[in-house]
Amino acid sequence: MAFIVAIDGPAGSGKGTITKIVGQKMHLVNIDTGAMYRCVALACLNKEIEYSNIKEIQKVLENIQIEFKNVSGNQKVFLNGEDVTNAIRTHEVDNVVAKFAAIKIVRDKVTPLQQKMGEEANIIMEGRDIGTVVFPNADVKIFLDCSLEERARRRYKQNLEKGMHISYEEVLENIQKRHKLETEREVAPFIQAEDAIYIDTTHLSIEEVVEKIVNIIKERNSYKIKK
Ligand code: C5P
Repeated sequence: MAFIVAIDGPAGSGKGTITKIVGQKMHLVNIDTGAMYRCVALACLNKEIEYSNIKEIQKVLENIQIEFKNVSGNQKVFLNGEDVTNAIRTHEVDNVVAKFAAIKIVRDKVTPLQQKMGEEANIIMEGRDIGTVVFPNADVKIFLDCSLEERARRRYKQNLEKGMHISYEEVLENIQKRHKLETEREVAPFIQAEDAIYIDTTHLSIEEVVEKIVNIIKERNSYKIKK
């Protein structure tokens, strides 16, 4: 049985960066489930399919292929054979992804793919419903939180570093809207699992959060590193 660490948290909580570092330190395969929902949104955007067009979305899902591949030490995301690592991080995708992620047939397709990844390796998986829906029996569950303003500041800075010039106000509005959709949706709403360990990252550095999570993982008796 593989060892599974579930990290749930909102956009801008630092979970992507933190998960990557903890994964490297603890020899766990890092899986970004948000990237998978972003792939679905991008596939639909490319075909100009609206989130309300369930029939066409179904067709996209029937043939969709989402893969994570290690290319020269960097994890890349492939959608139907094409490298979309950067294409899934645009403002256009940011604006629609939560709408697509709220659709039942989308989650019914993506969730089993994620569960299968957990059968194949020791993993650290980040998302919104990992500790509640995807792996309710995960060995370690972490819920990362952060104030809305700090999350918007972090995301704004990340965007600038990537050369994306989106105003702070727009970033704030986007993550606020996504949060509302994610917490209020009927399928797999974004909530803290009862047995998840809560960490507020607002006033913590990346290194401090990494250290906390690494220590939590080490403390679990059942932990066996497969090298
Ligand atoms: O983590 P990230 O912000 O890249 O995720 C993109 C979107 O995918 C989120 O806004 C959310 O709507 C959706 N998502 C989800 N469940 C997950 C991971 C992401 O609904 N497990």
